[in-house]
Amino acid sequence: MLSEKLQDALNEQVKWEYFSGLQYKAIAGYFDEQNLPGFVNWMDNQAKEEFFHAEKFVSWLCEAGGRTDFRAMDAPTNDFDSPLAAFEFSLNHEEEVSARINNLMTLAKEEGHHALQIFLQWFVNEQVEEEATFGQLVAELKLVEGDGRGLLMLDRELGSRSFTPPAGE
Ligand code: MG
Repeated sequence: MLSEKLQDALNEQVKWEYFSGLQYKAIAGYFDEQNLPGFVNWMDNQAKEEFFHAEKFVSWLCEAGGRTDFRAMDAPTNDFDSPLAAFEFSLNHEEEVSARINNLMTLAKEEGHHALQIFLQWFVNEQVEEEATFGQLVAELKLVEGDGRGLLMLDRELGSRSFTPPAGE
């Protein structure tokens, strides 16, 4: 059984995961304008991953007897000064998401909801990975900043990312 408080917090997280997907689609649009198809591909795949996170929360919420409550979202940020600025913005966003997942975990512990804690553990680990990935790309973009050739090389590399939801999830 889910308390009203937990149900509300989970629905808020569903919003954040969908919003993350929308935000990364917006960043992909910025990269498209910059003629960086590899960056577009990478962000499109990141968006897919966020929509998968959202679905994962929705499925668990329903399975645990909760009720979905979809909420209005703010508009994403569409414009950036540089690819580096877009990735720095994304890293900040992931740090915010991590803080929210941690708060959810704290709530699940306070209420002694063991199943929710186990479910959230996957997201706790996932956020460590997300922050590391975005942090690495911020560092790489700082290295190549102002160097068109470096940016093109990175664009080629990012063009190879593809996300498929893990089997059985
Ligand atoms: Mg996410």
